[in-house]
Amino acid sequence: MKPNQIKIQDVTLRDGNQALRKPWTLEEKIEVFDLLVELNVDGIEVGFPSSNETEFVASKTLAKRAPVGKPIAGLSRANETEIAKTWDAIQYANKPRMHIVFPVSDFSIRNVLKISEKEVIQKIQKSVSFARSIVGPEVEIQFSGEHFGDAIENFAFTKDAFLSAIEAGANIINLPNTVERYRPMVFVNMVKEISEFIGNKAKVSVHTHNDLGMATATSVECVYVGAEQIEVALNGLGERAGNTNLYETCIALHQNGETLGINFQRIYPTAKRIAEMTGIPIGEKTPIIGEDIFSHRSGIHQDGVAKTIKQSKGAYRTFSPEFVGRKDAETISFTNQSGHRAIQFLLENRGIFVPQTKVHQLFETAKSISSKENNREITEAELVELATGLVASL
Ligand SMILES: [Zn+2]
Repeated sequence: MKPNQIKIQDVTLRDGNQALRKPWTLEEKIEVFDLLVELNVDGIEVGFPSSNETEFVASKTLAKRAPVGKPIAGLSRANETEIAKTWDAIQYANKPRMHIVFPVSDFSIRNVLKISEKEVIQKIQKSVSFARSIVGPEVEIQFSGEHFGDAIENFAFTKDAFLSAIEAGANIINLPNTVERYRPMVFVNMVKEISEFIGNKAKVSVHTHNDLGMATATSVECVYVGAEQIEVALNGLGERAGNTNLYETCIALHQNGETLGINFQRIYPTAKRIAEMTGIPIGEKTPIIGEDIFSHRSGIHQDGVAKTIKQSKGAYRTFSPEFVGRKDAETISFTNQSGHRAIQFLLENRGIFVPQTKVHQLFETAKSISSKENNREITEAELVELATGLVASL
């Protein structure tokens, strides 16, 4: 069931951008596009060209800037005017991709569209056929069934909807969890069933949102039931709680033995720049890129870290800081939860030798400073100072 090569399709410039308090300017979109090219994602959705003039100009500019062979998608709603406008913008790419979206869930059909299922099918057929007629036979057309993850009540209908999109000319069927409402395996099983139903008639892609914090898990598991493409965003940007996080998804797949084309060393610098550009800070405990994720404070952990620091598999580390382009290292700092090993390790790293007999004394001093001052952390610099004083007094 697993594809040979999983494709990472980035949607930061479209889904991420549309959810920003201040959407990006043309110059900013160019900078993000260049970061994505350096990161070597497999494909880039550049925008929603028919939504406004800035988006149109940006999509056209980025299409012209695209490297050879990199799929460049533009999103369009399922009507001819918008599809034509989208094509006007993205046709300049070396490998353009038309992306058409239309709702498929029973809830949306009845409450938002207020049309019959038959009309939904007609709308999909008409729009995809029109797109095929203007883009020619070679260009990829991706069809997204919006709210697919919510289409539990009318699941049989979604199969018909996707089949009609394929018959009208779609090559990629994108399955969005537009709003994350259920547990991951509900969505994963739906993807599995569609994937088996479609077979090799089209590729299956997934696009998940993070409303319940499970988008990464959901997307990663979909790879093992037939999804060949995962749609992701830098820093997990996107509507509400965001889109599937690019970094988490790629590292998780890599850790599980999958080969990706991603330039992993670009992850950290890219994340920092995106945080600056959006004004959305990176949380200290955010996986992969958070400031505090390589710190160890408890005695048991510090002992394991110290013993495996030079090994590729660390006792308390999934991947090394360098692997994702970080300049920091695993750190051990001293709190009232720390052990003797923390002190020895920190000082050895600084080239300071404290005799074994004195380590305990140093430990007690550091611990008493910490407990007198509300159990605060004792920094590495403070420990060095304490140790230097101790060694000098020998
Ligand atoms: Zn989305």
